[in-house]
Amino acid sequence: MQRSLITVVAAGCFFSAFPASSAGDAERLVAAMLGDTPLVADLQALTDEIGGRPTGSEANRRSVQWALERFRDAGVEARVEAFEMPGLWLERSARARVGGDAEFSVRIAAMPFSTATPEGGLRAAVVDGRHGLEADFERLGSVAAGAFVLIETDELEDIPGLFREYTEAAAIEERAFDAGVAGVVYMGSRPRDVLYRHNASLGLKNDRPMLVMERGSGQRVARLLRQGKELDLTVEIDLNIAGAYESHNVVGEIKGHGEPEEFVVIGAHLDSWGLGTGALDNGCNVAVVIDLARQIKRLGIMPRRTIRFVLFNGEEQGLQGSWGYAKAHAEELDRHVMASSYDIGSGRISGFFTNGRVELVEFLDRALRSVAGLGPFDNPNVPIVGTDNFDFMLEGIANLVANQESANYGPNYHAGTDTFDKVDLTQLRLNAAISAAVTWAFAEEDIDWQRHDRTAIQELIDTTDLGQQMRTFGFFDAWATGQRGRRD
Ligand SMILES: [Zn+2]
Repeated sequence: MQRSLITVVAAGCFFSAFPASSAGDAERLVAAMLGDTPLVADLQALTDEIGGRPTGSEANRRSVQWALERFRDAGVEARVEAFEMPGLWLERSARARVGGDAEFSVRIAAMPFSTATPEGGLRAAVVDGRHGLEADFERLGSVAAGAFVLIETDELEDIPGLFREYTEAAAIEERAFDAGVAGVVYMGSRPRDVLYRHNASLGLKNDRPMLVMERGSGQRVARLLRQGKELDLTVEIDLNIAGAYESHNVVGEIKGHGEPEEFVVIGAHLDSWGLGTGALDNGCNVAVVIDLARQIKRLGIMPRRTIRFVLFNGEEQGLQGSWGYAKAHAEELDRHVMASSYDIGSGRISGFFTNGRVELVEFLDRALRSVAGLGPFDNPNVPIVGTDNFDFMLEGIANLVANQESANYGPNYHAGTDTFDKVDLTQLRLNAAISAAVTWAFAEEDIDWQRHDRTAIQELIDTTDLGQQMRTFGFFDAWATGQRGRRD
């Protein structure tokens, strides 16, 4: 395995595209990442042993300790950094039963930040909301008030489909709440009745039950309603909820020898939703980040700038850990030259989103030449919202998100099926080599960009669809009011 992988990389001809003298170190690092490292063993421990780890859960706390120990075992200086989570939300159980003209039980999952139901469950009529469009709610008229509204979904195939799901949900939920529904029931979008947990646009401000119903049962309910049958739904959602609490990011650090006060961040989020074991999202990239620190340390090579290996927490619940990092390190942000995020599973890295920093495109083109055999690479200069680069982008710091081929990411996203066996371990190792080449280049080579001020960030929002994405994820007001992101 080791030799064949190195051959693939070298097929692109290994040479440094930079004039600096660190090419030898970069080459050794890439080769080390392709070798027989504990990458896969780490991923298996995090997913099979610790398992799903929503922030606030016992498993999440265990994962923090585990990650800290992985860094320290590798001789990497590491610490936990506390930040505040706005509220605890964990599902204990969720079930539902259809009654009326047909009776059967259905499998459901509570959407994040759904409310709990009273003892014995909440029973209400269920009505056919079709796709939840304006016209669909107009057609329903007053019968939607006080009822569960069933929203039909298209089967999810890939990452673009996932973005559509998020985008549509915000508008659907707004219409449903305006219509006075008792709760929203999404027909599961995943094949084979797989359950998952995402959306619910209002976050902790949501004030009613929100759930996903397994696809087959959702379709059955829709068919019955369209035949004129009258159905009700009894939903029982039991939650562990509480107010604000403290959670922790895990930060490994390798000090720079030339510019130790300048920082390069490579990040992946440690938390997951709890239905599966968070392997594609995002255990596999957590294992890459840990292994990169481990191999740099093992080789004894020294970066020019300080590299921070950050395992963010609270990502799934509103990018809380990376926001916490930005607040805790406010004094250092002028000296953060790069923050990169890896969060799209184990599909091939096809390049990086450069998030409106066109100067990064050319730099990446050069950095990626050393792993050209793993390409082709393309670096789209568009802003991406949805993972831990976000607060760095709003702070004006150059930031990247690894762009990855969809592979099996979409169907398993936040689902019970996101488990160790879904990870493409060979591609993960190749991705690790790519991340090593890129991270090392940012830590080592001359750079010619600076942190952007609020005006420049606002211009990015105004001239791209960034503002729309921020609205979809419910982040726009926090920027507009100066609560989140760089101030003047
Ligand atoms: Zn993720």
